[in-house]
Amino acid sequence: MAWEFSTDPEFQRKLDWMREFVTSEIWPLETLLDELGWEGLTRAVAPLQEEVRRQELWAAHLDPQLGGQGYGQVKLGLMHEILGTSPVAPLVFGNAAPDSGNSEILALAGSPEQKERYLYPLLAGDLKSAFSMTEPDTAGSDPTLLRTRAIRDGDDWVINGHKWFSSNGSIADFLIVMAVTNPDAQPHQRASMFIVDAGTPGVTVLRDVPTMEHPWEGFAKYGNHAEILYEDVRVPAEALLGAEGAGFLIAQQRLGPGRIHHCMRWIGLARRAFDMLCERSLYREAHGSTLSGHQTIQNWIADSAAEMQAARLMTMHAAWKLDTEGSLAARQDIAMIKYYGARVLHDVIDRALQAHGALGYSTDLPLEAMYRFARAARIYDGPDEVHRASVARQILRGYEPPSGHVPSEHIPTRREAARVKFAELLDAITAND
Ligand SMILES: Cc1cc2nc3c(=O)[nH]c(=O)nc-3n(C[C@H](O)[C@H](O)[C@H](O)COP(=O)(O)OP(=O)(O)OC[C@H]3O[C@@H](n4cnc5c(N)ncnc54)[C@H](O)[C@@H]3O)c2cc1C
Repeated sequence: MAWEFSTDPEFQRKLDWMREFVTSEIWPLETLLDELGWEGLTRAVAPLQEEVRRQELWAAHLDPQLGGQGYGQVKLGLMHEILGTSPVAPLVFGNAAPDSGNSEILALAGSPEQKERYLYPLLAGDLKSAFSMTEPDTAGSDPTLLRTRAIRDGDDWVINGHKWFSSNGSIADFLIVMAVTNPDAQPHQRASMFIVDAGTPGVTVLRDVPTMEHPWEGFAKYGNHAEILYEDVRVPAEALLGAEGAGFLIAQQRLGPGRIHHCMRWIGLARRAFDMLCERSLYREAHGSTLSGHQTIQNWIADSAAEMQAARLMTMHAAWKLDTEGSLAARQDIAMIKYYGARVLHDVIDRALQAHGALGYSTDLPLEAMYRFARAARIYDGPDEVHRASVARQILRGYEPPSGHVPSEHIPTRREAARVKFAELLDAITAND
């Protein structure tokens, strides 16, 4: 019998160090992002990254032989809760998306040569990467519809396709491209992954797509999402990453842990917005009291606290399940935290923004940027609707329709059965009357 919710003291000390380091050294950088640009940001974070390495917390998601800590998902979850408070923190700790996920893919499926050429420099921070799967003309929520093709030609593969939302695609040194290699195979065995160097002839980055998060036209900025044309892109056979047809399998293995990290980051960010909500409620006077005296605001605070706690415990439980029982066992839990966590993130930020009125809507506070960021959480990593459908399907496998379509709980039917079951007792009671 072991339900355990404590953190061992040694790891708690690391978490305490991280929290202090992130708030005092990284949060201030957020206010200078526009001025710094990607070049400046790279220079600004270099000494911080050194400090993280000294603390042996760099790229903690990877095995020790790859320079990581080999932390399980429970430890990583607690760590990401702190890193999620700032968009810059994951970069400083060597686990920013998409590089962290791509490094996991390379560690999982890369050949020794691919690891040498791409993985180690990626971990050292010398290369940047992108993951190029989603296409503008097919539904990303159903990747079995992918149209990008890779055709074998002698010793080479030739790739043709149109992708978008390849995060960091315009600053990446290499792209991991998902392309169909065998259209006649089973739907989930049709696609393969390829490593494509950014400068390969035929790779054209058309633009960085302006989004809610970055609404203005821009190019080659950290965190942008690139639209890319692949036209007769010729890569050698060694560019195939993992087995042919294993693209979805590899992506799936990478996605489980990634979703836990996302969800814990969201909880960290929600908590930051929540702190702002509470702070505001204590000093803003309206209608005879501070906001904290009004029941609606009290409800927002109480509901937010409960929802964040629920999301946090669900996510940590999913992390524990992944560590102890594996990714298949944790599938349903991971799908649930994806849509539940995304909603909690959105709702808590929304309430904090509302409580700040015009100030919350303005760029004088980070809430409006958090709000725009939160909206995307319902779309990437699979839209919420797909995860809900998958959870419902899995749950329904444990049920079957009742015989004769009479609900199992139908009281007249149950009463009739109970009368038969307790006939003797009922007879005795009636006889005594
Ligand atoms: C900020 C951000 C970063 C991203 N980064 C990357 C990246 O680095 N690399 C990459 O390849 N892609 C990336 N993406 C793309 C992302 O993975 C896709 O947007 C996502 O998979 C959804 O695909 P879609 O946009 O084609 O929407 P569609 O598949 O067209 O879906 C549209 C909507 O249809 C509805 N829907 C779909 N299926 C169902 C269903 N079964 N039941 C009910 N409703 C349904 C949902 O409401 C869904 O939002 C990123 C996206 C965002 C927003």
